[in-house]
Amino acid sequence: MSKLKPCPFCGRTPIIERWSSGGLMYMVKCGNPDCQVPAEGYPCGHDLNKVFEEWSRRADDEQKRNEYQI
Ligand SMILES: [Zn+2]
Repeated sequence: MSKLKPCPFCGRTPIIERWSSGGLMYMVKCGNPDCQVPAEGYPCGHDLNKVFEEWSRRADDEQKRNEYQI
C-alpha cells in the first residue's frame, strides 16, 4: 500500500475512516481537528486505492498552488 502524503494544509499525517454504507466506505481526512476542511470535502469511496490516489493528487495540487504564489 502506498504511503499517504501529509495534509497539504497543516502537514499532519492523515487518518483513514471506514464505515459501512452499501459496502465498506473509506475516507481519508486530516487528523488535525483544527485543520481547514477543503471546500470540496475529503476524498471518499468504496475503493481505498482510489481514495488514496485522490488524496495524493489533491496534496500535489495544493503544493503546486502554494509554489506559484511565491
Ligand atoms: Zn490538515
